[in-house]
Amino acid sequence: MSPVDPESLRAAAIAAAATAGAGVLTAAIGVFHPRAMLFGPGVWRGPTQGSSVALTFDDGPHPLYTARIAEILASHGARGTFFCIGRELDRFAAVGRALHLAGHELANHSHRHGTGADLFVSSRLVADLARCQEALLQITGSRPRYYRPAVGIRNPVVHDAARRLGLTIVTWTHSARDGVFAMTAKRAKRLASRVRPGSIVALHDGASLPRSGLREQTVQNLPLLLEQLSARGLRLGTLSELLGGGADLMQA
Ligand SMILES: [Zn+2]
Repeated sequence: MSPVDPESLRAAAIAAAATAGAGVLTAAIGVFHPRAMLFGPGVWRGPTQGSSVALTFDDGPHPLYTARIAEILASHGARGTFFCIGRELDRFAAVGRALHLAGHELANHSHRHGTGADLFVSSRLVADLARCQEALLQITGSRPRYYRPAVGIRNPVVHDAARRLGLTIVTWTHSARDGVFAMTAKRAKRLASRVRPGSIVALHDGASLPRSGLREQTVQNLPLLLEQLSARGLRLGTLSELLGGGADLMQA
């Protein structure tokens, strides 16, 4: 038996650490990156031929901001898809109903918006999503087709629950990141410049508090975003309108 070369040992240790690190990195990308569908099918973009774009709004309905956003969309001839939190829908059902009557699309963003055990225990997630489906059914008269997981997190449990409920997971092509940063005029312009035909754009109408400086900025600069997109000839519609002609489904 030849003596172990310390250099070889060190190299092997570094290689092992790099492999483990790459594994963790790959898993993290699969869980968080909106375009990665490592664990199952989902949609992050619609057909790129044509001129349609889908605007999506998460975390509502909110008593202060959702109706204002809906009015701005209407004044620009646009419609959006609202990924509603079931619990908020129970509290502000009239806001949800008004959205539906105005021609916007309502979709599932889970009942509790839990990011802990809800996303990792299958029975919990299925029950949570089913509860949101029922709330949406009561308001719109039909079960929604689309589900955006809380914070966009995907794992095998999330994909399995979506499959059981017949829901298509939808992430996004571009995000305003207005859950964390204020959508200033500069950010709205930058976001508009990135949008292309087929893009799914993620914004927020909801907020965890009755008043939110972040959401106020979204409302204030949404007209600018819509004007910039319309000026480029992009049609601003719902997810169903965008994906009706097919979608780039990324299979695991
Ligand atoms: Zn959310």
